[in-house]
This record gives sequence, C-alpha cells and structure tokens, in this order.
Amino acid sequence: MSFTVAIDGPAASGKGTISRAVSEFFGYAYLDTGLLYRATGRRMLQGLDAVEAAQGLQAADLEADDLRTAEVGQAASRVAAIPEVRAALVDFQRAFARRSGGAVLDGRDIGTVICPDAEVKLYVTAGDDERARRRHKELCEKGQEVTLEEVLDDLRIRDARDSARATAPLKPADDAILLDTSAMTIDQAVAQAIKVIDAAQA
Ligand code: C5P
Repeated sequence: MSFTVAIDGPAASGKGTISRAVSEFFGYAYLDTGLLYRATGRRMLQGLDAVEAAQGLQAADLEADDLRTAEVGQAASRVAAIPEVRAALVDFQRAFARRSGGAVLDGRDIGTVICPDAEVKLYVTAGDDERARRRHKELCEKGQEVTLEEVLDDLRIRDARDSARATAPLKPADDAILLDTSAMTIDQAVAQAIKVIDAAQA
C-alpha cells in the first residue's frame, strides 16, 4: 500500500534532515527532489541544454559529489524555473511517491503539484537568519570557506527566484501543516513531524 509524505519548504529550513529522520522512523523510501534539479543544473553548467539534461538524467548524475555547492544550487534554481525541465521530472517523482511501502519526498512543489493527494503535507520553515546560520555551520564543517553573509545572500536569492517563478512556485499547499523550526532543535522538529504522520495513519 502506498502512503506519501510531502515535505516542502525554503532552502535550509531543516526539511531534508526531518525527511530523512521520518523516513527512517517509519521505514519509508526517501527522495530528495532537490537533487534532480541540482543534477540538471550541474549538467547545464557543463554546457548541456537544461531541458535535454533533465530529460536524459541518469541515476549516476544524482551521485556526483559536487551537487551541494552554492554554484550548483543557484544553477538548480535557474533550471527549476523552466517549465519543460519540471515536466521532464514529474513522472519519476510521482512513481516514487506511489511505490508500495510508503515514501517521503522533499522539495518545493511536492504538496502543491507533484503529489496534491499526499496523505501528509508538511511545510517546513525557519527565519532567514536561522536558516543561514545552520547552512553556514554545515558548510564550515565540510571545510568550505564561506561567510555567513554569503550564505544568507545565496538563500535569499534562491528563495526569491523559487517563490516568484510562474510554474510550481515555492508555497505551502492549502492543506499543508506548517512547521516553523526557528526555535526548535532537530529532535523537537522531527518529533512534531512524526506526531503529524502518526495522526494521519490512525
Ligand atoms: O532542496 P535544494 O536546495 O537542494 O533544491 C535546489 C533547488 O532546486 C531549489 O532552490 C529549487 O529551485 C529547486 N527545486 C525545485 N523543486 C523541488 C526541489 C528543488 O524547484 N521540488
């Protein structure tokens, strides 16, 4: 039986960490849909046409080790505004969402466009400064040299582009449950998400 958990929200809101944790807790499969756009953006930076890159995406493209850089993130958000790129990635995401045994997908448009019938929809947010602080810490721990201001700028530019685009903009679904993690620890945020999913299963 399928059971879909859609988790959307802006960059570095904590949705990836929450998604991974709840997928492990419930034994569901997890898809970080941002990777599809990052892999497409990375191929565009290498000179490929963005639409062709999205149409020809291979599993190995999702494993490149430089997908998490700010440069690839910005390229992802540029290709993500192209309707044909989004269209090329829809079927894969929907099939993943409906696999048997349950699935968690995180992204920007999962609850609004990809899985409007998801059993659970969460919209995870946090204030800009807190999101930048978290992402900055994560990048520093990985050895990347970047200032807090640069991280904040990067997030704001991406969020503005993702929210303003005409196709599948970043926004909560009407029936999404809002989870503001600004003042929460990761454990508290995960516990809240588990509670919501539990209630939907009952
Ligand atoms: O989630 P992540 O930060 O890795 O996503 C990178 C970019 O991919 C986002 O800034 C957004 O433009 C795009 N994206 C999207 N729709 C999704 C997931 C990601 O447009 N479902």
